Amino acid sequence: MTIDLITALRARLGEDRVSTAEAVREQHSHGEGHHAPSLPGAVVFAQSTDDVAQTLALCSAHGVPLTAFGAGTSLEGHVNPPEGGISLDLSRMTDLLSVHPQDMDCRVQAGITRQALNQILRDTGLFFPVDPGGEATIGGMCATRASGTAAVRYGTIRENVLGLTVVLADGRVMRTGGRVRKSSTGYDLTHLLIGSEGTLGVITEIHLRLHPIPETIAAAVVQFETLADAVATAIDILQFGVPIGRVELLDDVQMDASIRYSSLTGLRTLPTLFLEFVGGPDSVREQIAAVEAIVADRGGLGFDWHTDPDQRAALWRARHHAYWACLAYRPGYRAMTTDAIVPISALTELVTGVKADIAESGLTAPIVGHVGDGNFHTIILAPPTPEGLEQAWALDRKIVRRALALGGSCSGEHGVGLGKRAFMADEHDPVALDVMRALKRTLDPNDILNPGKMLPGNVRSDR
Ligand SMILES: Cc1cc2nc3c(=O)[nH]c(=O)nc-3n(C[C@H](O)[C@H](O)[C@H](O)COP(=O)(O)OP(=O)(O)OC[C@H]3O[C@@H](n4cnc5c(N)ncnc54)[C@H](O)[C@@H]3O)c2cc1C
Repeated sequence: MTIDLITALRARLGEDRVSTAEAVREQHSHGEGHHAPSLPGAVVFAQSTDDVAQTLALCSAHGVPLTAFGAGTSLEGHVNPPEGGISLDLSRMTDLLSVHPQDMDCRVQAGITRQALNQILRDTGLFFPVDPGGEATIGGMCATRASGTAAVRYGTIRENVLGLTVVLADGRVMRTGGRVRKSSTGYDLTHLLIGSEGTLGVITEIHLRLHPIPETIAAAVVQFETLADAVATAIDILQFGVPIGRVELLDDVQMDASIRYSSLTGLRTLPTLFLEFVGGPDSVREQIAAVEAIVADRGGLGFDWHTDPDQRAALWRARHHAYWACLAYRPGYRAMTTDAIVPISALTELVTGVKADIAESGLTAPIVGHVGDGNFHTIILAPPTPEGLEQAWALDRKIVRRALALGGSCSGEHGVGLGKRAFMADEHDPVALDVMRALKRTLDPNDILNPGKMLPGNVRSDR
């Protein structure tokens, strides 16, 4: 990292927008995962597409790597810069640029969080539904192809982005997509960038689909004697075509952690489903009747209804805080989060197999997940010793192998980063991996964008 580059960046953007302070670099040396941190040489705070373009043009000229940083909530070492260089912080790019209520879309800067966006939109009757648990930025969510509890009804970020503004490695600005709901012209560059984890370009603006706030919302909690019954109920709900708003699984250990952390009352430490029904009043009544019948059939232990908005918010807050509940459950331990996903018909086999793997490992590893998508997390809590982490990593590998053997993926929503690179060759066809490497070389020939991530054997080491 050259002093010349820092001087040039300060001259273009202003002294206060380029920090080499130890504390600021430390904050940008890691995300929320367990991966070893690595310090960037400097942190640049962008406020516009032009700032990003100027920064990338300079990094490209100096051959210095750049890692985009949204909110740093990613879990697989995505934002850690093993090769140092610039960490480009987009969290000050928080403007809502335009809203079109009649077309139900809006354009935002990449650093706005989904919580802040929904707060601004609340009087329009519209909302943005993709809800990962962390306070993530929309740009970071695009870059990791994120989803959350509402994906079963509204889709992931992929289904909710219409177009992007992206700065390429050499500083050129590219606009993709548009405001229309569909278009069959050209290669789909928008969706090439979605999930590219800052390795192909830096997203600065996003055109998003919005949805009407549902007229009626009802939530329920239902508990089961066995994990298999809870999972089978979720599968039945989907296979019967109930347009459920959310269906989330918490196993007995996660319930123990969440009951303590979120002060949930009246619930037992049993496998549990959190459910949400959305739509018009008649539709919600129909959905509830259908799900009650399925639950009764599967031996559910009755519904605990949450119709009051505050009660509902508390329930979903507890779900979104599941990760923090796990960290508080074993203070001082490190959390390694798996993100396996399988076709829903294979979900019971995977979840029950994983539960047996956890028991065999002797580790504490709560299970929580978006079972409506066939996706769940095992939050493996490991003592912070090399042996503890190796034990956790061995369990992680076992879970991924099980998912892959059932036709699944090692990550439904968190992405690859550093942590899941080891599984890319097991999951993807070798020709597909070659095409991914070729795309990387074309868009980032000098490998300055988030190097060392995503692909096994990155471009630098391939040369
Ligand atoms: C408690 C908790 C719960 C979570 N729950 C979920 C969940 O339910 N679903 C889910 O999908 N994820 C979840 N996550 C993971 C995380 O929130 C997501 O991966 C999120 O999308 C990351 O957004 P971010 O803004 O924090 O991105 P960061 O962590 O800052 O960055 C993530 C990656 O994207 C790149 N990047 C960031 N911004 C840009 C940009 N503008 N242009 C190009 N590249 C960029 C970075 O270089 C990095 O590779 C959870 C995390 C936590 C801590």
